[in-house]
Amino acid sequence: MDKLKKCIKCGLYTMKEQCPRCGGETRTAHPPKFSPEDKYGEYRRRAKFGY
Ligand SMILES: [Zn+2]
Repeated sequence: MDKLKKCIKCGLYTMKEQCPRCGGETRTAHPPKFSPEDKYGEYRRRAKFGY
């Protein structure tokens, strides 16, 4: 269940919700499918291109 995250401020990779170096917010680094912001975009893309 380890999710590698990346600080949106300084780019540090960490497992934590908050960057231990600068205190910035972190985002999940690699699985784009789990991104809530991308969820609907994904459906739209599928609908548009007919996958
Ligand atoms: Zn940081």
